[in-house]
Parts: sequence; structure tokens; C-alpha cells
Amino acid sequence: MRSCLTSEEIKTRLSLAGVNPTAQRIAICRFVLCDADHPTADDVKTWADKNFPMVSRATVYNTLNTLVQVKILKEVRVSHSNKVMYDSNTEHHYHFFDETSGKLIDIDPDRVEVKADLPKGFKMHEMEIVFKGKVK
Ligand SMILES: [Zn+2]
Repeated sequence: MRSCLTSEEIKTRLSLAGVNPTAQRIAICRFVLCDADHPTADDVKTWADKNFPMVSRATVYNTLNTLVQVKILKEVRVSHSNKVMYDSNTEHHYHFFDETSGKLIDIDPDRVEVKADLPKGFKMHEMEIVFKGKVK
């Protein structure tokens, strides 16, 4: 499920995290949470340039990092690219990477079965899976 917070909720979350909820930061949050789909920082910067020409790249990066720290966003890395994508779906899920468009598509973990013999003495707390492919 996509979590689309209201501006007021975003303001509260940022304030609680000790971040000054400026109009720019709130707008960036709204874009990432409500309108964008696994955007990269460059996608967010491109959007910000159109809507808030005064937003610097540093503000975009800092805002995204802050949102990750306060767990409003999750970072996703796809191995073939060095780009970080930002995920507003913070529930446990996997991804399908469309190699043609470069887009990530969420996959419900209930639709994936994995069996693994973990190394002795370890306990797993997270599992990340990225399937890669193209349109048939
Ligand atoms: Zn996702």
C-alpha cells in the first residue's frame, strides 16, 4: 500500500524528527510519497526545478536522507546501477526491475517463496530480492 501522508502529517513527522518543516521540504515529501514511484534523487531534483526553482540539490539530498532516517522512505539499490531509488512503500516487499524503463515494480512478498539454509549462528532480520527482466 502506498502511504500518502497529508501535508500536516508530514509536518508533524519532520518536526518530531527534529527537522524544520519548511514548505520546500514538505513539498518534496508530498511529491515522493504521493506522486512519484521509486524516484531517484535526480528525479526529485528535476521535479523540484520545475516547481521550486530555488531548491538546491543539497536540499533535495538532505530532505531525502532525512525522510529515510525517520523511516518515511526506504532506500532501494539495484545492483546494475549506482543510483539509489526512494521507496514510499516502507512495508516489507520485493521488487521487479524493468530493464527497459529502469522502473521498479513492487512485488507482494506473499507471492514469493524462498527457502534458504542460513549460516549457523545467524538470525536474519531482513531479506531483499530484486527480480530483473523485460516486457515479453
Ligand atoms: Zn517498492
